Amino acid sequence: MSKVVIIGAGGVGTVVAHKVAQNSKVFTEVLLASRTKSKCDAIAADVQSRYGVTMQTAQVDADNVPELVALLRSFQPKLVINVALPYQDLTIMDACLEVGVNYLDTANYEPKDEAHFEYSWQWAYQDKFKKAGLTAILGCGFDPGVTSVFTAYAAKHHFDEMHYLDIVDCNAGDHGKAFATNFNPEINIREVSQRGKYWENGKWVETEPHEIHKPLNYPEIGPKESYVIYHEELESLVKNFPTLKRARFWMTFGQEYLTHLRVIQNIGMARIDEVEYNGQKIVPIQFLKAVLPNPGDLGENYTGWTSIGCRIKGIKNGEEKTYYIYNNCSHEEAYKETGTQGVSYTTGVPATVGAMMFLTGEWGGAGVFNVEEFNPDPFLHELAQQGLPWHELHNIDLEL
Ligand code: NDP
Repeated sequence: MSKVVIIGAGGVGTVVAHKVAQNSKVFTEVLLASRTKSKCDAIAADVQSRYGVTMQTAQVDADNVPELVALLRSFQPKLVINVALPYQDLTIMDACLEVGVNYLDTANYEPKDEAHFEYSWQWAYQDKFKKAGLTAILGCGFDPGVTSVFTAYAAKHHFDEMHYLDIVDCNAGDHGKAFATNFNPEINIREVSQRGKYWENGKWVETEPHEIHKPLNYPEIGPKESYVIYHEELESLVKNFPTLKRARFWMTFGQEYLTHLRVIQNIGMARIDEVEYNGQKIVPIQFLKAVLPNPGDLGENYTGWTSIGCRIKGIKNGEEKTYYIYNNCSHEEAYKETGTQGVSYTTGVPATVGAMMFLTGEWGGAGVFNVEEFNPDPFLHELAQQGLPWHELHNIDLEL
């Protein structure tokens, strides 16, 4: 009964396609559209051979609102799952408004010509979605996404007041390449090479890139050097949970990765402006993407785990308490199930679960929402059923 359009046929789009096909009672008709139709066709063929489910495909330039409008008008979906790039968020939201379709994404809008991301651009759509009686669900991947729902779950069940939030993101996997990024290289390099930023006592504190770091122990993995970086869910979480005195985001990086990143930056290959080359204009980071391994192809030899969660300190019944909620995901298991590595898997599964929440009426309302504003319970219940079980630890040493 529910028609959806998936936009984007990369690593995350592949996982969403598999997951909607596995849940064909909820997702009764699916159209997978992307810039390169042959990629959609290959995914649809794989999905059909594994689950016997047919999926329509189409070519679309998601930077082009009239093209999107024509596609949505002809298919008439209830929801668009946007797993293209953050650059396309606003055009897809515009098209959804024009046709009267609900919207979900996994990453907040970034302009192409400025390595800068914040929710203001998408929050500015609040009135338009409200007036249209449509729902826009922002940031429904793992981080943002599950980490935001973990925080909402902690607030609902385990704390009267949360004071300190540390989101910890560890990729302890090994793909066997000297250097590769786990999702779109352009977006990934822009994200990890920016200045650090965290929330403390009502204001943002900026740091040099990777200035604050320490080893943290991850369950079943052990100690990994972890670095404070800015991550987009902090912006909405400190707004929605105003008792937080401090909120930080930690990500693990290997020395080899950081060395490559430094060289890439120092030689100008991370530049996002156009340069003249042989009479042609090219953007260095886009050229770099073309020569780096495709994140979607890393899965085959990827071993190890990701471990992402929230470490929280606060007050319950007048007593101080600590709480850690996390998921560990195996790259090998993700590959066996969907042909992609764990980072695509941990993003695509929550996007699908968020879509299920909307289509089954658990989540909804008119306006633009970050996922921590919804009821966390049905989402986390379904997340565990769909391949991402989660675990809780109480009153442990958070190391932070
Ligand atoms: P990929 O680069 O693998 O895939 C992106 C897909 O979008 C490609 O198929 C690409 O087409 C398509 N696309 C790009 N531009 C357009 C356009 N103008 N019109 C139509 N299609 C377009 O990226 P990922 O799958 O790794 O990531 C997808 C999204 O997930 C990104 O927004 C990323 O930031 C987000 N993400 C979120 C995470 C989270 O936890 N919240 C974690 C990881 C990723 P083509 O194949 O032709 O290049």
